Amino acid sequence: MIAKTRQIANIRRLTNSLPTVRYVNPEYVYIAITNARCGQGECYVKVGDKVKMGQVIGLRKGPFFEQPFHSTVSGEVVGFVKKFHRSGKLTEFVQIKNDMQDTEDESIKERTDEEIAKLTREDFVEITKNCSLVGLGGSSFPTYIKFQTTDPIDTICINGVECEPYLSADHRMIMEHPRRVIQGSLYALQAFKAKRVVICIKKKYQDLYDTLTAELTQFPGAPVEIHRVGNYYPQGWEIEMIKTGLGIKVPAGVLPAKLGVMVFNVSTVAGLWRAIKRNQPVMKRNFTLTGDGIKTPTNFRLRIGTSLTEVIAQCGGYINEDKNKVLILGGPMMGANLVRDDAVITKTCTSCIILDEKPEVEEPCVRCGSCVYSCPAGLQPVQIMQAVKNNDKDSIKNKLNIKSCILCGMCSYTCTSKIHLTEYCRKAKKLAM
Ligand code: SF4
Ligand code: SF4
Repeated sequence: MIAKTRQIANIRRLTNSLPTVRYVNPEYVYIAITNARCGQGECYVKVGDKVKMGQVIGLRKGPFFEQPFHSTVSGEVVGFVKKFHRSGKLTEFVQIKNDMQDTEDESIKERTDEEIAKLTREDFVEITKNCSLVGLGGSSFPTYIKFQTTDPIDTICINGVECEPYLSADHRMIMEHPRRVIQGSLYALQAFKAKRVVICIKKKYQDLYDTLTAELTQFPGAPVEIHRVGNYYPQGWEIEMIKTGLGIKVPAGVLPAKLGVMVFNVSTVAGLWRAIKRNQPVMKRNFTLTGDGIKTPTNFRLRIGTSLTEVIAQCGGYINEDKNKVLILGGPMMGANLVRDDAVITKTCTSCIILDEKPEVEEPCVRCGSCVYSCPAGLQPVQIMQAVKNNDKDSIKNKLNIKSCILCGMCSYTCTSKIHLTEYCRKAKKLAM
């Protein structure tokens, strides 16, 4: 097993200051019929159908919600193919040939500021559901469910921390589109009738602070604050961010909404801006491709449904092609290892990190306790590992509080014996189901 979190510590921060490159016209896009949250899906189009950009082409069904899915280009449906989803599962995708015309579906239309001012919380639910907006920081949690919250919300907290090392998609979103981030946050404020927006960013990013501060002069009187939080991992875990950024301690098992706080990622509020202003689903997203295994690390603006293979080619391909590579889709700490590079960029793919493989050998546990001290959720990773090895479902379910594990990767990263403890945590979560 490759200890990816340990390898990632050795690569440089490569892309933070690089401007975003647009690669938005692939010849084909691939739209998943199901995903990790929605195990069932129904597709409304067949081979030969013409589709428009933003047209609903099917419906995904999860255990407690539904999501329409959309074509992200205009063109023609040319097939149904199996490809790897970011969840690592082989999944059926609709293949659409891009006619490069970007002909928009009739449902995409601009709202005036007066129309937006009259929108109610129920309208926000409807719009974000129809636009299928989800948490774009990687959570993929449906945004309309957040807008259905009945708890009174006092503070809209925007997560601009992007705490996993080496990622820069959100960084570039703030640097290049601060207005969308701020305006989207103010739309959320309107929906919840909240009192303030707090945008949390890492202390060390002076460029983000300066950009947001300058942009805020265009919103006189807007109740938006910028809070600079710690530079450590996992500062972007919402419980940690709320504690540092707002001074509120959220007890285990309690939703932040119960304490009057609603959290959105920066890319999600930029997506909210587009949904409210243009009634437009998410067609494109920022994506970082980095690591010491590719020639030109790059920040991209990509069409949802683009093949990762194409994106790697845009970066000039692999360095040292004779060496095995480790591919991580998502952040280095919480992302998933890919076994092949023909995955598809979905709405929740923030990044891919490609490294030359440096195999590490696990050694026996020396009971140093590092994994326990480093766990932000206060768990006992070493005991979770033992329980998984013993198939002790009772302990996993009832004593070890595996539900509180956020799969942050810290236990693997700090383990003296290079044991991939987070994988045991992942298995424990499955056993506890
Ligand atoms: S992966 Fe889970 S057990 Fe390991 S440090 Fe993170 S929260 Fe704790
Ligand atoms: S950090 Fe690794 S070696 Fe140390 S107690 Fe945890 S599992 Fe054992």
